Amino acid sequence: MFTLQNSELKDVQEKVERCERLTFDDGVRLFESNDLPFLGFLANQVRARLNQNQVFYSVNLHLNHTNVCTAHCVFCAFARRPHEEGGYTMSCDEVLAKIEDAVSRFPINEVHIVGGLNPELGLEYYVDMFRAIRSRFPSLFIKALTAVEIDDLARRMHLGWYELLSILKEAGLNGLPGGGAEIFKEATRKKICSEKTTSEDWLSIHKAAHHLGLFSNCTMLYGHIESIEDRVDHVLRLRELQGETRGFQSFIPLAFNAEHTPLERKGEVGGYTDLKVYAVSRLLFDNIRHIKVHWTTLDLKLAQVSLSFGVDDVGGTNLNEKIMHDAGNETPTDLSEQSLKSLICEAGYEPCLVDSSYQCEEK
Ligand code: SF4
Repeated sequence: MFTLQNSELKDVQEKVERCERLTFDDGVRLFESNDLPFLGFLANQVRARLNQNQVFYSVNLHLNHTNVCTAHCVFCAFARRPHEEGGYTMSCDEVLAKIEDAVSRFPINEVHIVGGLNPELGLEYYVDMFRAIRSRFPSLFIKALTAVEIDDLARRMHLGWYELLSILKEAGLNGLPGGGAEIFKEATRKKICSEKTTSEDWLSIHKAAHHLGLFSNCTMLYGHIESIEDRVDHVLRLRELQGETRGFQSFIPLAFNAEHTPLERKGEVGGYTDLKVYAVSRLLFDNIRHIKVHWTTLDLKLAQVSLSFGVDDVGGTNLNEKIMHDAGNETPTDLSEQSLKSLICEAGYEPCLVDSSYQCEEK
């Protein structure tokens, strides 16, 4: 069998081969290593063990129903303050029309809805929207509202998270996206998004969702001001919750796009760090099956290379994605299903179209 060696990480390699859980210190040492081929080699062993030669993808529609937001996250180029020029909010009919248009042109199986913290939008708006989507498109998986949006809505409506999630589930919600996690380490989180839901609350909201039978994803925003220790801490807190609930379907590292944000002058990390984040995450997460690349945050070619660094899911076609592109991302706004399949096949993997619960659809 082809193998790579690294004398400094020999003990970690042995743990990976024995399927043993890696520690915080192991994670830090892996991040400190510059032996990228070795990290990719190790990560791919885990990836192959969990997902063989398959790479998953879906055909989905992204809808950002409002960009009006009361928060001031320093990395965000999407939000507009209430009454600021350029702010928009879609009506329920506009949301339905967007979905109708996408459904008539593409075989979408999921709608992904996230937006700003708009003080004008109450519970009725979301319940009406989810009910209308569920009634018009019964088989569409509705993945909507980050934990931060859930937290904001719950506070304004004087509801507990569990109560609010139950009402939204009843109206048609199927799962939560993983956004808003950013970086959990409190001191760092305070510097980049002080007004946002705390780390502890973000985790509690996902825990409540999992207890209600709503699956969710989890993310980490990297490449801003976080340290290596912050990254490992973040991953291990998610791993701990997953050990309790088993409700996370995939982990999605999100590369920070600095353009049009107050951190623009600081610049962005390079592809070397991107690939390292994917590989080390794959090695630390022994209880989340899928590591997903969000190709809208990476160069498409690098997203393809990440398939050799532990990634097994290239996400969806993301028709209509807006948030990342407002932050200066220059990837296409959406990809055709054929482009996603070609990207996977060229890298030597087997494309597998899935719905939001990772059920393979025959093609
Ligand atoms: S990241 Fe989300 S919560 Fe923060 S300012 Fe942007 S839209 Fe608002």
